[in-house]
This record gives sequence, structure tokens and C-alpha cells, in this order.
Amino acid sequence: MKVVRFHAPGDVRIEEAPEPAPGPGDVKIRVRACSTCGTDVKILNFGHHHIVPPRVMGHEIAGEVVEAGVDAAGAGWAPGDRVQVIAAIPCGRCQECRRGRMTVCPNQVSMGYHFDGGFAEYMIVPPNVLQVDGLNRIPDGISYAEASVAEPLACVLNGQNLARVGAGDDVVVMGSGPIGCLHVRLARARGAARVFLVDLNRERLDLAADLVHPDAAICGSETDVVDAVFKLTEGRGADVVITAAAAGAAQEQAVQMAARQGRISFFGGLPKDKPVIALDSNLVHYRELTIVGANGSSPAHNKEALRLIASGAVPVADLITHRLPLDRALDAFGIVARGEAIKVTVEP
Ligand SMILES: [Zn+2]
Ligand SMILES: [Zn+2]
Repeated sequence: MKVVRFHAPGDVRIEEAPEPAPGPGDVKIRVRACSTCGTDVKILNFGHHHIVPPRVMGHEIAGEVVEAGVDAAGAGWAPGDRVQVIAAIPCGRCQECRRGRMTVCPNQVSMGYHFDGGFAEYMIVPPNVLQVDGLNRIPDGISYAEASVAEPLACVLNGQNLARVGAGDDVVVMGSGPIGCLHVRLARARGAARVFLVDLNRERLDLAADLVHPDAAICGSETDVVDAVFKLTEGRGADVVITAAAAGAAQEQAVQMAARQGRISFFGGLPKDKPVIALDSNLVHYRELTIVGANGSSPAHNKEALRLIASGAVPVADLITHRLPLDRALDAFGIVARGEAIKVTVEP
């Protein structure tokens, strides 16, 4: 079979590999859709400390069961089942997991990092995934490509739960990539009053705004973003600000534009060599701000994301702007890196 395999930073190859055979606790799937994201580009360029090469990449996975090991079959999995696979796999046993905080499990392992991922014709879903209920049946009426977007939507859902996005909130989303678009859609589904979308890149902002229709699109390279948000909110600021951009400046602006008792989600991480920002602590103090992080998603978030897509509450089909076959996966990463697309899905 054909796979997309990471060998070293800058060295990702499309090559032949033996088709995997499932062990007793495994489920083997025919991958039907695996979406790309900024993380794949980061891995391509810099590698990742959890990846021991060679490793098949891809973590936004949907496919069809072709074979279940004897134990997995006993658990109810059978050929033909349409499934979506979690990316981050919590251990299910530690203190955090037992308290329901699976996104911060210190023993977390991941598809495409510790296990071969979805940029392949076939893939093994390991027992670790099944043990935490991380193999999800795809609801009728949604495609494999849509189901592959459940994983990033699950992360977005975790972020908005932690930032308590709700009815009546004015929400600012900074960064208009696929994650930013999902944040806009989910905030609307949760009853936000107004949603404003910010990006430095005018082209990318327009592309996203045409799809998700924010109440205003603010281009950070043309206007003072903090000023613009205060004007749009009658001087109050935003109830929730979500940064979906790997820039310390965006996080600093996010705190400045928050309303009284506002919540700020540092959804996107910062580059490892530049993790420190300047924070006016008195803004946090006097305005009673809450700053929260967000680290991936739990199995339950993935299930809820599939429900949100299936019910139409958060449509994702139109966010998939590019679909490419497996042997063009490197082109897919290029499209993502250049910011030309919203979501690029590989269909092996
Ligand atoms: Zn991703
Ligand atoms: Zn755990």
C-alpha cells in the first residue's frame, strides 16, 4: 500500500509499505479521508519530539473497518462500519483521566506520532483508542471527508467549553484559518450575539469571511484591531477572545480587547522559542478577566463534534476547499503552508 511517511525534518516520502495486519485488539480500517492541518506542516518542517521516524503521518482520520481482531470483533466492530478516529489518546487511568480531564492526561499518546496515522490506504486503530471509546461511528448522512473534520472541531469545542462561549456573547476570533472558521461556526451555534473575525492576511481573511460570514472581518495589517473591536462593541470590548494564531502579539491584543469579566482563550500555542508575552496584569485584575488554554480534545469531544456536524449545527462540508489523492499529499501540505485553502482533505 501507499503511505506518507516522515523520515526527518524536510524529508517526508510517499512510498510503498506492507499492508498492516491487525492484532487481536486492533481494528484495521481502509482510510477514506484524512484532513491536513498546520500541525502536519510543522511536523514536515521541524519534526516532533514524540515522533520516532519513520512514521506514517495524519491524525484527522475517517475510514471504513475492513477487519477487526478477535477481541475488537467481540467489542462489536465489524467490516463495513464507518468510523472516525480520535487523534489524542488519553490513558484513561491516571488522576486527570479519572476526573474527566482527559485533554490534560500526562500519558497521552497520539495517532500519527506514537502510532502510524491516516495518510495511508490502510491503518491500524490500536487497542489504546478502543479502550477510551475513541473509535466513533460516523452518523448517517455525513461523508468521510466531513467526519475527518470532527477532530479539529472537537478541539475547538474543548476551547469554547473552557472559555464558556454562550448566548449573548460578542466573540472575537483571531486567525482565519480552518480552526478560526470552525470557531466562528461553533460560536454561532452556541448562540453568540456577534462574531468578529481577525487576520493579518487580507486574502486569507476574505476567503474565510466569504464562507463563514462574520459580523465584521478586521484586517490587522490595515487597522488597529483593538481599536476596531472597541468601536464595534460600543466601547465594551469582547466577551470572549479566541486566538487561533501562533503569534504572541495576537495574545497580547486579545487581553487588551476583552470586556469586563471577559474570557480569553489562548487556543493556539506559540512557537517553542518564543513562548513569553507581555501581559498587563492590571487588566486581568480590574476587569476580572479569565485566561484559559486549550490542549486538543477528549473522546467525548469527538463524539459531540460528530453530532454537531450531523445535526447541521456546525456545517463543515463547504470548509473543505481542496481534496487531493494520497500521492499528492506533499502538494496538500504546500497549500496549507501557503494559507491558500481553508481545509485540505487527502482521500487515499
Ligand atoms: Zn490537526
Ligand atoms: Zn490519563
